[in-house]
Amino acid sequence: MAEKIIIIGSGPAGWTAAIYAARANLSPIVYEGEPSNIMVPGGQLMYTTEVENYPGFPSGIQGTEMMELFKQQSKRFDTQIFTEDITSVDFSSHPFQLKTSEGNDVEALSVVIATGARANWLNLPNEQRLAHSGGGVSACAICDGALPAYRDKVLVVVGGGDSAIEEGLYLTKFASKVILVHRRDELRASPIMQERAKSNPKIEFKWNSIVVDVLGDKIISGVRLQSTINKEESDLDCGGLFIAIGHTPNTSFLGDSLELDEKGFIGTRQSWRTATSVLGVFAAGDVMDPYYKQAVTAAGTGCMAALEAERWLTHEGLV
Ligand code: NAP
Repeated sequence: MAEKIIIIGSGPAGWTAAIYAARANLSPIVYEGEPSNIMVPGGQLMYTTEVENYPGFPSGIQGTEMMELFKQQSKRFDTQIFTEDITSVDFSSHPFQLKTSEGNDVEALSVVIATGARANWLNLPNEQRLAHSGGGVSACAICDGALPAYRDKVLVVVGGGDSAIEEGLYLTKFASKVILVHRRDELRASPIMQERAKSNPKIEFKWNSIVVDVLGDKIISGVRLQSTINKEESDLDCGGLFIAIGHTPNTSFLGDSLELDEKGFIGTRQSWRTATSVLGVFAAGDVMDPYYKQAVTAAGTGCMAALEAERWLTHEGLV
């Protein structure tokens, strides 16, 4: 028998969709994903230390603890959870067919895709070590930049797109100086963002440079740069490193089953809606949002997806 709703993914969007779907008597099933070297159940918040900007936690909360609370809340309403990936989908006929990493076939009347995105990293060993230990390396300035550890420090941002500029500008509120390290001598960011960064007295640019190592034992003390012109290396002291080189949505398992944009994010039929190009399939969170990328916006779209799924199932006479 086909399940009423299957939710794929277990970040803020997936768990919020589960809470709303469960309270609407849809008996949701969440595929929370298998732990791997690129993603774990709970998603990107599992790699964050303290979350200070999620409303309702006035003293802040660890990202891992927050995801556990989301999960517990969805369980309270009898959500069924499987620690498996969905490895492929067939949305060409209804009920939809999904295959799990344990080799099981599942049928669903509606699906919410909330598999998130992963921040792109430079993938340097010391970058990863200090990012995981909370040692001053982050891929989200908006999430972590206001933490006391970064106050009045020289902060380095890597990247030349709108995110790097936006994050750099945000960090000027706390940092003594922000140094934007970009691999070319021309920014990819929009002209207005470039202008804002170039006119900000706290922002400096290191052009034609890449970070080849992150220095420091428990806490970052600097970065090693390499010139993209002559390969010359130099060290730059800093108290924080923010990587802003884009995100990769977790959509490869979808193949060409629904419409994705050129970067692989799921497109929705209308702005401010979660319905995808396939009727009955909804998307929520960072997998459909390359713009806001916040836990609270992901939770919001998770709620929207569950409400839209419930309305669609009712409209089609399926529940
Ligand atoms: P993006 O536009 O893809 O820019 C990524 C930047 O990272 C590029 O400058 C790229 O360099 C650099 N980069 C990529 N891989 C690198 C590597 N391995 N080492 C060093 N540098 C690397 O991504 P984004 O800035 O996250 O923006 C994503 C989308 O969101 C864009 O459409 C953007 O306009 C939008 N956005 C808009 C706003 C806003 O309007 N306020 C804010 C944030 C994001 P190259 O330039 O050399 O390729």
